[in-house]
Amino acid sequence: MEEAELERMITETIEASREEIYSALQELVRIPSVVGNEGNAQQHIAKLYKGLRLQVDIVEAKLEEIKDHPLYLPLPGSYENRPNVVGTYHGKGGGKSLALNGHIDTVSPDPVEAWTHKPYSGVIEDGKLYGRGAADMKAGLIANYFALKTLLDLGIEPKGDVQLQSVIEEEAGGSGGLLALLLKGYKTDAMLISEPFPNLVVAGAGTCFFSVKVQGKAVHGGEAHLGVNPIGKMMKIYDALVNLEKERAETVHYQLFKNWTGQAAELCLGSLQAGDWPSKVPETAELQGRVSLIPGEKIAPIRQLIIDTVELACKGDPWMDAHPPVVDFFGWQTEAWEQDINHPFVKMVKNTAEEISEKELIFAGFPAGLDGRFCIDFGVPCVNLGPKGLLHQVDEYVVLDTVIEITKIYALMIMKWCGYDYHRI
Ligand SMILES: [Zn+2]
Repeated sequence: MEEAELERMITETIEASREEIYSALQELVRIPSVVGNEGNAQQHIAKLYKGLRLQVDIVEAKLEEIKDHPLYLPLPGSYENRPNVVGTYHGKGGGKSLALNGHIDTVSPDPVEAWTHKPYSGVIEDGKLYGRGAADMKAGLIANYFALKTLLDLGIEPKGDVQLQSVIEEEAGGSGGLLALLLKGYKTDAMLISEPFPNLVVAGAGTCFFSVKVQGKAVHGGEAHLGVNPIGKMMKIYDALVNLEKERAETVHYQLFKNWTGQAAELCLGSLQAGDWPSKVPETAELQGRVSLIPGEKIAPIRQLIIDTVELACKGDPWMDAHPPVVDFFGWQTEAWEQDINHPFVKMVKNTAEEISEKELIFAGFPAGLDGRFCIDFGVPCVNLGPKGLLHQVDEYVVLDTVIEITKIYALMIMKWCGYDYHRI
């Protein structure tokens, strides 16, 4: 049979499977899997993969195997009952291997009372399926599964191996998820991550968390003028960091992030803590923030920039000269990553997606952390592309038409990348 005829057969079969795909997604959305509690949903995924007669591996991360890797981010909690699940289809050989990857963990559904539909309802309304994780990214996981299922059901057997990977912990850094899998040797010739991005995401920002602690002089509120209020001192530092962001917005250029947000570099001041009582001048104030890096920027000079900015803001203030603020770096400390867009895998994904969606797709960079950075580190070419929806918010949803469209794209991608044999069933 001609390839074009096979392609038509695949897209028609997926089109006819709408109801089956929607109810599989509903079932998965109804199993909560907030990061740290992925166990039940992973059991469900393992069952799905077994149903396709894939080789199913349950891979629990082990701290001693991941903690020395430079991209490891330390997290509290254990990896017990939080396995990664890999379903492998073993091709006969003669083709390239491919991983279709997605993360099962979600962010919290809070505040639950603000949702129009309950966060684990999986309600379908006006072509959208609602629920925490619907878009980010259970729809992607379901699309990965149905793409391979459709080919196998039709007697189209990929020549290269195909891995369906369902990983944990992406929302909290991915150390026990994709990093653990890659360290265990689950490496393929390319990886598609079905994150809910309607454009081709081939870069991710670096992230550097920092804190600034200012010392005050605590006194009773009745004699406040005799103390030194660290809140006021912190304001100077806040203003200086806001100015640093403006400066970086004008001087740091990277088109793929601009395509996403309009600005290449971000500096977010996310938390301010000081005092605990109206009638007491606080001891200290602490500001925490995040500065993003573009590809090519190194962590060390970015840290120095924060330190210098804080120092300059305090200059000439006798109290702060005598009690210099303390700048610290913690949590996420990663450099940016980017995938070469001229790689044959990237070109194939772009062509296939444009053929099915009948529109031009642009390349973009995601302005925050993504599992894709592990792929680049391990030399696995990687593209993020998936269905459209609303994510990380109350009333999260995925647009169902785009789930069907993306499933077609993935199915054709497997054929084109891995090669195939066809046996009429
Ligand atoms: Zn995600």
